[in-house]
Formats: sequence, structure tokens, C-alpha cells
Amino acid sequence: MTRIDLHCHSTASDGTLTPAQLVTAGAAAGLDIMAITDHDTTGGWAEAAAARPEGLKLVRGAELSCRWFGGAEWPIALHLLAYLFDPAEPRLAGDLATLRIDREQRAEKIVGKLRADGVPITWDEVRDYAAGGSVGRPHIAQALIRAGLVRTTDEAFASQWLGARYFVPKTDLDVFEAVRAVRAAGGVAVFAHPRATVRGRVVPDQLIADLADAGLFGLEADHEDHSPAERAHVRALAEDLGLVVTGSSDFHGTHKTVQLGAFTTAFESYEKIAAAASGVPVLG
Ligand code: AMP
Ligand code: FE
Ligand code: FE
Ligand code: ZN
Repeated sequence: MTRIDLHCHSTASDGTLTPAQLVTAGAAAGLDIMAITDHDTTGGWAEAAAARPEGLKLVRGAELSCRWFGGAEWPIALHLLAYLFDPAEPRLAGDLATLRIDREQRAEKIVGKLRADGVPITWDEVRDYAAGGSVGRPHIAQALIRAGLVRTTDEAFASQWLGARYFVPKTDLDVFEAVRAVRAAGGVAVFAHPRATVRGRVVPDQLIADLADAGLFGLEADHEDHSPAERAHVRALAEDLGLVVTGSSDFHGTHKTVQLGAFTTAFESYEKIAAAASGVPVLG
């Protein structure tokens, strides 16, 4: 059986393995096909491609920070996996750059709020943890761990820390604009963990139907943040709407406990994604 994991993070965002270590670990974990999908960046693509072990196919992608602004009392944040798009396409590349700049400003604001309350961490320290990649709350969590205030990344996401009290929202892409931008760059868009109620509010099924009309290609059903009932719901919805279903680990190295290949994608779904994309080829 072909083992396929289409959602993995490296140090180009909030993972803890470098892109080279990530592809090496993927092969060691028995994966045949894996994707690198860092938050709002293609910064890990070149290193992952150069280090790709013989026999491992590499799908280059990214996970875009998006928001749905319609229908609800306040906007709902969501993540879109974008696969095999042309990284040089100016509009999408510009969107990604804007998101990364906003992530820096937002993380600096969060650090400012913490420091105003006497928490002994610094923006320089957090920026060093991000090491040139997309900055995220897991990097601030690292500083809180270093300062001895929490023991784990998970604890740092509790409501008295980064989950609510010191939460600052990001400026995300409108999700319809994002789907269109990914398609215009020759990519394929898959909605990441669409029913993950553990992460907060989720969008209604009607929004997913509207996104399908706008060119969304698939839904990630098998993910650690989905309960069995949520997985079944996503599968049924995908069938209704004619969308492909994926499953993936959303591996983040030691920033999460989930392991590479913990959830996988069927070969026929992978084939459809690869066939629909025209931005860059699968490597290997
Ligand atoms: P940000 O992108 O800066 O808003 O931070 C969200 C990221 O933090 C997600 O992509 C996850 O990788 C990670 N994250 C969210 N919640 C948790 C948690 N409870 N434990 C560990 N990592 C988390
Ligand atoms: Fe993450
Ligand atoms: Fe995500
Ligand atoms: Zn992810």
C-alpha cells in the first residue's frame, strides 16, 4: 500500500524539523509520498527538494491562513492547504508575503502584551526561535517554556496564555480570494481540518458548498483534531459535493505529539490532486 501524508510542517514555519530533516524523517517513517505545507510560505521547498530521499515523492505546498468574513457575527479563521502551485505567480506570492509580515507584527504585539504584564520574554528571542521562517504562536510558546511559565506547547495554548488572554488575531486572506488565487497559480486547494471544533468555531456546510462552487478541490477528513463523527461528516459532505477526501498528520515535530503518517490519504485522492495541478510537478 502506498503511504501518503499530505500535511507536514518544517522549521520554515512552526515545525521543529528542518525541511531536509522532514523529508528524511518521512522516508524513515515509511511514507512513499509526502507534502511539505508550511504556514504561509514556500520557504522550505528548495531545501526539502534538494534533500529528498530516492523513492520518496514530494508534493510541494503551503497552508494558507484564511478567514470567512460572511454570515457570522464575527469572522471565522480557517486553513487552506494549497498544493503544487507556481511559487512565482505574483498575486499568490504577494499574498503569502503579506501574511508573513503580518505574522511578525502580530507576534510582536503578543510579546508586547505579555511583557506589559511582566512576563520575561523578548521579541528577539521569539524571532530567533522562528529562525527566518513564518512566525507563529508555537514560537512564543517556546519562549514561555524557556521562562518556566508553562511546561508544554499545549499548555501555552490554554486560555490564560496564547489561547485567549494574550491572543491577537492575524490578518488572514478572504477564503474565496484564496481559493481563486491558488487556482490562478495552477494549484489545488484542500480545506484543512474543516470540522475541528476543538480549535474553535467551524464554518457551516453551506460555506463549504459555496467554496466547492468557487473551485475548492478537497476536504481533509482524517486529522487528529476531528472526532470519528466529524471525520464521517466530512466524508459524507465531500461525497455530496464531489470533492476529494484527504487524511494527514499535520506533523509539527516536537511542537505536537502526532507522528508522521498517523493519518494518510488514499492513492486515488492523491492522483486526482496531482492531475488537477499545473503550477509545479510532484518531485520524484
Ligand atoms: P498561529 O498560526 O500563530 O495562530 O498558531 C497556531 C498554530 O499553533 C497552529 O498551526 C498549530 O500548529 C499550533 N497549535 C495550535 N494549538 C495548539 C496546541 N494546543 N498545541 C500545540 N500547537 C498548537
Ligand atoms: Fe502550525
Ligand atoms: Fe492548520
Ligand atoms: Zn498544518
